[in-house]
Amino acid sequence: MADVRAERIAQFVSPLRVRPGTEVRLPDDFDPAYKAGISKKKDGVELLRGGIELLADYQQRLAAQDVYGVLVCLQALDAGGKDGTIRHVMSGVNPQGVRVASFKVPSEEELDHDYLWRYSRHLPRRGEIGIFNRSHYEEVLVVRVHPENLRRQKLPGAARGPDVWERRYREINDWERYLTDNGFRVVKLFLNLSKEEQRVRFLKRIDVPERNWKFSPADVRERARWDDYQRAFSQMLSATSTEWAPWYVIPADRKWFARLCAAAVLVHTLIDIDPQYPQVSEQTRRELAEIRKDLAGPEEKTKKKNKNDKNKKNKP
Ligand code: ATP
Ligand code: MG
Repeated sequence: MADVRAERIAQFVSPLRVRPGTEVRLPDDFDPAYKAGISKKKDGVELLRGGIELLADYQQRLAAQDVYGVLVCLQALDAGGKDGTIRHVMSGVNPQGVRVASFKVPSEEELDHDYLWRYSRHLPRRGEIGIFNRSHYEEVLVVRVHPENLRRQKLPGAARGPDVWERRYREINDWERYLTDNGFRVVKLFLNLSKEEQRVRFLKRIDVPERNWKFSPADVRERARWDDYQRAFSQMLSATSTEWAPWYVIPADRKWFARLCAAAVLVHTLIDIDPQYPQVSEQTRRELAEIRKDLAGPEEKTKKKNKNDKNKKNKP
């Protein structure tokens, strides 16, 4: 990896990162329409193509090394573009090395366990990139905005007091620290959509028959709680952006730009991991050379000789 390229990617993602310990206030602190001075979509799409190629290369090395795993957590409000981001950013990657888990309303079985249980069951293996389409962060977002979700979790009285959110932030930070310390990097992306752009996307889902299936009246009910969600997201970003697992706020009003940012953050993490193909020992290399000789057989020797003779003839 050329250092210049790595440096350029680092600079590109830097303004998106929530500095650990800072207080975030949405919507003021991050502009959903920011596009880093890239004026034409065409240029952005071209850059994304380069990013996808890089990602494919890194993912192959990650899998070959089989030491580190990467967990990508995608959070957004409805119509934020999670599905499209996964589809585009992962388009060049070997599907064997990626697993996607989507988290919906928890089942009875899931509610019968501690709140992180269902997420831990879907963690990636070493060598894999795991994507959480919604994640354990729902436990401090939708569960906070709609407290009836908390009641359904059957917690003992002492565990659902007013300090529950602070405690969950700490537990989530500790869990991510544990994962990071053991070789699993956690990449957290919040697709930050404006209220106006959400309205436009909902209208499209109603107007275009092929998109009707994507629309649910429940989405509009959630939209009515927009300010509550902005507050919950702000507090979550402030409390859980850590040195080991920082949040990136992805400007999501332009889909092409959001995808470019998501790819850049992921590549940035992989550059940092710098996975390497395993090296074989001198002894193994010698054995391979012997096996190769047998496999190649006399045929290759003759071919080589003929080729050399021909070259000699052609020389003036
Ligand atoms: P799409 O883009 O296809 O709509 P989606 O992620 O919104 O994807 P849905 O099936 O529409 O998928 O919604 C999943 C729902 O599950 C969301 O409303 C979300 O708030 C809810 N949910 C996720 N995690 C939890 C949780 N821990 N507790 C309660 N509700 C949750
Ligand atoms: Mg939905």
